[in-house]
Amino acid sequence: MEFVEWYPRGYGVGFKITSKILEVQSNYQKIELYETEGFGKLFVIDGTVQLVEKGERSYHEPLVHPVMLSHPNPRKVLVIGGGDGGTLREVLKHESVENAIMVEIDEKVVEVSREYLKIDGGLLERLIRGEEPKAKLIIGDGVEYMKSHKEHFDVIIVDSTDPVGPAKLLFSEEFYKNAYDALDEKGLYITQSGSVYLFTDEVLGAYKNMKKAFDKVYYFTFPVIGYASPWSFLVGVKGDIDFMKVDLDRAKTLDLEYYDPERHETLFQMPKYVRDLLEGK
Ligand code: SAM
Repeated sequence: MEFVEWYPRGYGVGFKITSKILEVQSNYQKIELYETEGFGKLFVIDGTVQLVEKGERSYHEPLVHPVMLSHPNPRKVLVIGGGDGGTLREVLKHESVENAIMVEIDEKVVEVSREYLKIDGGLLERLIRGEEPKAKLIIGDGVEYMKSHKEHFDVIIVDSTDPVGPAKLLFSEEFYKNAYDALDEKGLYITQSGSVYLFTDEVLGAYKNMKKAFDKVYYFTFPVIGYASPWSFLVGVKGDIDFMKVDLDRAKTLDLEYYDPERHETLFQMPKYVRDLLEGK
């Protein structure tokens, strides 16, 4: 058996499957879990690959650590989405973190991840029991949370599904403006933003919307296992933080496998035509 995610224009990313573990329809989306031949478990939402067990860090590390290491002292962190627990797991590796909140819309994703996927090292279970001293899980819509939040954050990480269904508004100008307001005096915002080659228009659209909300916007790519790479990430800055620089001393405490802080500048490699488009040439 095979699982293939089909992207636009007939481009596919596929895995050989040894068994199907489950398929369940939640109130928001269809969740599937498979065992693959060489990459451990494969987690799929509405037909799109969310992660493979042996390779998920190639997504979670570039999503979390560049912004955390660029901020001088990230104490308060908000994660939107990320129901598998991988993003929060990486956030909590930073000793500076005092308070992290994760807002995931779909309780079923958390349940399936906790019981079957288990990339979180027991974190989701501890969150549900209220036994994780520095972190809290809220089941709710990130868009609504961002309108009504009381707290302010040093770093906001959007680990969402693609910009359709419940995640659509997470890529809107209004959402970015609310996120800017939810950051402290200075702070960093990051979102995954899709395949550079196959969703170029979506990346450009999100980039333009972010430029209307943040003081500075950066764009970088990373080769993610299981996605139509290079995968893109957009970073919005509030205040005087230079995202081209990261704290290499703090990086030494992190046990990284994919993102290389000593080669931080390599994140900014991109196809020439994409840079031309972003710079409006
Ligand atoms: N960590 C995964 C990976 O490695 O690619 C990424 C995906 S994570 C499972 C995406 C989550 O975003 C899903 O669980 C989905 O329910 C959640 N999500 C989508 N829209 C949301 C919204 N508006 N508010 C909060 N969570 C949302």
